[in-house]
Amino acid sequence: RTLTVDLGERSYPIHIGSGLLESAGEYLEQLGISKKSPHLIVTDDQVGPLYLERLATALASSGYRTVHAVVAAGEKSKSLTVFEEVMTSAIEGGLDRRSAVLALGGGVVGDLAGFVAASYMRGVPFIQVPTTILAHDSSVGGKVAVNHRLAKNMIGAFYQPEMVLYDLDTLQTLPIREIRAGLAEMVKHGLIWDAAFTSWCREHAEELLSLDSESLGYGLEMGCAIKAQVVSKDERELGLRAILNLGHTLGHAIEAVGGYGELLHGEAISIGMAASAKIAVNRGLAPAKLYEETKDLLQRFGLPVALPEHMDEERLIAAMMHDKKFVSQQLVFVLPREVGTVEIVPDVTLDEVRQVIRELKEVD
Ligand code: NAD
Ligand code: ZN
Repeated sequence: RTLTVDLGERSYPIHIGSGLLESAGEYLEQLGISKKSPHLIVTDDQVGPLYLERLATALASSGYRTVHAVVAAGEKSKSLTVFEEVMTSAIEGGLDRRSAVLALGGGVVGDLAGFVAASYMRGVPFIQVPTTILAHDSSVGGKVAVNHRLAKNMIGAFYQPEMVLYDLDTLQTLPIREIRAGLAEMVKHGLIWDAAFTSWCREHAEELLSLDSESLGYGLEMGCAIKAQVVSKDERELGLRAILNLGHTLGHAIEAVGGYGELLHGEAISIGMAASAKIAVNRGLAPAKLYEETKDLLQRFGLPVALPEHMDEERLIAAMMHDKKFVSQQLVFVLPREVGTVEIVPDVTLDEVRQVIRELKEVD
């Protein structure tokens, strides 16, 4: 399966399928990537032992020379310190302007390596090789960043890859929690854009959770296609693109209050999506059944929809006010009208948010 992210001169293909790592060399040849320059593969210390050799060997057999930077797995590697370490690997490895940076891993590696690619010699070709389900979201769209101590994703760029090479075989080693969390973003793409795809997700929850390759291939293709459509209409998030933040206003606050360790990103936005549905129902934007449907859908994927009891209301509110999406005493939320249709609502009051926080602590 191949689809295209349509961005004029910066358009790029997303290839999704089995055994793609083994053919990586041919895909690089298609892009016209130089065989004279060395290329940098960035990965983490969980993905590296599983797939780095497979990728490097495939590239070598097509005549590509690679150097490698292996960072520690986890969000902590999205830092300026690790960014500088990867830069050191790039310089010591002799990368030049024709060298490509390949991100082999999940969203952490993709965001970090993408920012390295955007910055090294003011920009070299970037290739995403996602290995998580969540990364169907993060590898498409060109947002790359590292975190600042005070705020997540604060230092970054818009930098589109030349290609996304999504080998479904790599997903087989994902821990179940990561599978669920990744599927939360797939469900999100349905909820914001496509009622029929949302129903399909509901009906195929079991197949998706068990990584059935037919279902997974279709679901990821649809998720990528929806993201690609939204991004190609609004690359720099001046308007429409913000709908991709469904569940993220509260979700980011949950992650922050939980110290980025308690809940995975996808788990936090699952609760956030349930909250958005509830706020929409409470303010009469959506019919009551929308909340029940959303909750049921997320629970089919084994995702949380209740807010952990210990998460303090005021700390959550404070975290949301810190977020970029804050305007005066009101918060910007993406709220659903119906399945497949959302609206960017700039005037959700703190009272509405407090109410939903209380309601979501009672859910079971
Ligand atoms: P991740 O990269 O940390 O991967 C999750 C865990 O799974 C890691 O421990 C990793 O080592 C492990 N792993 C990855 N692939 C594996 C595999 N195939 N087999 C076994 N283990 C594997 O996290 P993620 O969930 O992929 O991404 C989260 C990050 O993505 C966050 O930093 C978030 O900010 C970012 N993100 C970015 C965008 C964007 O548009 N750029 C969008 C969404 C999320
Ligand atoms: Zn997200």
